[in-house]
Amino acid sequence: MLADTFESLESITARTQMVNILVALLKKTPAEIIDRVVYIIEERLWPDWKGLPELGVAEKSIIRAIAVATGQSDDVVERTAKTLGDLGKAAESLISTVREKQKRTTSLLSFVTSRRELTVSRVYDTFVRIAMAQGEGSKDIKIRLLSGLLAEASPKEARYIVRFAEGKLRLGVGEATLMDALAVAFGGGSFARPIIERAYNLRADLGEVARVVATKGIEELKALKPVVGIPIRPMLAERHNNPKEILEKVGGVGFVEYKYDGERAQIHKKGDEVVIFSRRLENITHQYPDVVDYVKRGVKAEEAIVEGEIVAIDPDTGEFKPFQELMHRKRKHDVMSVVKEIPVRVYLFDLLYLNGVDYTVKPLPERRKALEEVIEKNEGLDIAEYITAKNPVELEKFFMGAISDGAEGVMVKAIHKDSIYQAGTRGWLWIKFKRDYRSEMIDTVDLVVVGAFYGRGRRGGKFGALLMAAYNEEKDVFETVCKVGSGFTDEDLNQLPDLLKPYIVDKKPARVVSNIQPDVWVVPKLVAEIIGAELTLSPLHTCAVGKVRGDAGISIRFPRFIRWRDDKSPEDATTSNELFEMYKNQLKKIAEKPGEGEAT
Ligand code: AMP
Repeated sequence: MLADTFESLESITARTQMVNILVALLKKTPAEIIDRVVYIIEERLWPDWKGLPELGVAEKSIIRAIAVATGQSDDVVERTAKTLGDLGKAAESLISTVREKQKRTTSLLSFVTSRRELTVSRVYDTFVRIAMAQGEGSKDIKIRLLSGLLAEASPKEARYIVRFAEGKLRLGVGEATLMDALAVAFGGGSFARPIIERAYNLRADLGEVARVVATKGIEELKALKPVVGIPIRPMLAERHNNPKEILEKVGGVGFVEYKYDGERAQIHKKGDEVVIFSRRLENITHQYPDVVDYVKRGVKAEEAIVEGEIVAIDPDTGEFKPFQELMHRKRKHDVMSVVKEIPVRVYLFDLLYLNGVDYTVKPLPERRKALEEVIEKNEGLDIAEYITAKNPVELEKFFMGAISDGAEGVMVKAIHKDSIYQAGTRGWLWIKFKRDYRSEMIDTVDLVVVGAFYGRGRRGGKFGALLMAAYNEEKDVFETVCKVGSGFTDEDLNQLPDLLKPYIVDKKPARVVSNIQPDVWVVPKLVAEIIGAELTLSPLHTCAVGKVRGDAGISIRFPRFIRWRDDKSPEDATTSNELFEMYKNQLKKIAEKPGEGEAT
């Protein structure tokens, strides 16, 4: 059943059709296995934040497993894959041959009865065992488990089992689409979507959300509260560059806080136990034993979830160091030596949960008050520097101070009665105002790789440029913005093939909207920071197409690669809407300065 659904999903790209197909599948799925079905569609075994092992089956092992299951040599499997385009299809074809043979040699009746039906549970549980096989001898165990599964599979099932093992299922179903489907299947219609979304934002686990709504109903989801130990999807900020308009957008008055350039941390505390989640909800506790200690001493609550920015500090001067310094902690095995070399301090800016009370639904001033009451500052723990600003002059002055103190800019935050913590959402309750907006150059943007082009000349035989896209959150698709070929070091270029390899596909990924045909398509996964000279309109690109002009999208002139943003997922990339706003602001700036540019 699952394989048939996957086959129909593969052939379509329209979101409404996808939702219909998913709804039909979810309704037919027994409630006790719905979480597993959702994970499989999401192409995972569990949410990343659980920190459990990934599948980890090498391509060679998959080939071996197919060979064992079909009685062929590895060579034949590889050749078939080359001819048919991928290992999934190779497995399908070879298994089909085996089944035909079995049919011919056994009577039909015993053929039918001898084949055990492959259930979702059997497939999922086997993949769990494959993932859990670690250390010496694990390669053989993984091969044995996978080939066992394939031996029981129908040809079509084999196609998808192999693709799942490779991490190349690529159904093109984004989390937004899955949530739409869950709302219709179990919430009674699309009006239930906000409830599903809130639950997802509080649990960061769509499988779990699906399980709760399928077994206990939508009312149970409404009552969900944060739980210490389960990460909450972070609230995100819009961007703007005009102090007066920023204040208007938050309602005339707001908190203005330092925007620290560090690593976002969501810190969970229960008694003496502390867990730190990154912006992408990875468990990064082991990188910050010093922060664990600061929090144990400084957060005076039995149970709390607080949020802040971890900033690297120069031990000699006490000044902030750039965010890159924190990367040493990711690479080093000996964290303790880095702790001494590059100490950090946490600047807290929010409180989401305190001793049984859900603070995400309370306005910011109430959250801040509770945060201030529960924190006892120490050498590594502080509250973010902030003021309450009522006019743009105050805001600008504070902004200048923040910059000269080494901050990236400021965050302006609404403090009215509806200024709740909008988990997982980008909105105008928080607005970032960064230094770069003041310059003529546009600010950097974070774009997603969706394709690559082979290079010429010195770059012959390698990739020479990437096709970059912004995220359109309304449509849950990626729209192209520019082709970037400069700014890469030789080392960057040498690493590109390996970096891209796992994500290269032979046709345009379903969630990519592009008028350009790159040499290879790349599934949206990798995010890079890009800067350029200015924003322009281009008929070649699809970003925010139709917003400025019907036939042109927003593009970047002279784009340059700055660095990879491993800390951002594709959905965290700059959105098409943000680029549209930046474009409008640029036009305004040009209009204010006649002679320095041409307004169109
Ligand atoms: P950006 O990464 O440019 O989208 O900016 C948003 C990030 O700024 C957040 O995810 C935080 O990591 C960081 N940040 C620094 N200071 C603050 C603050 N006072 N309030 C909220 N976020 C902050």
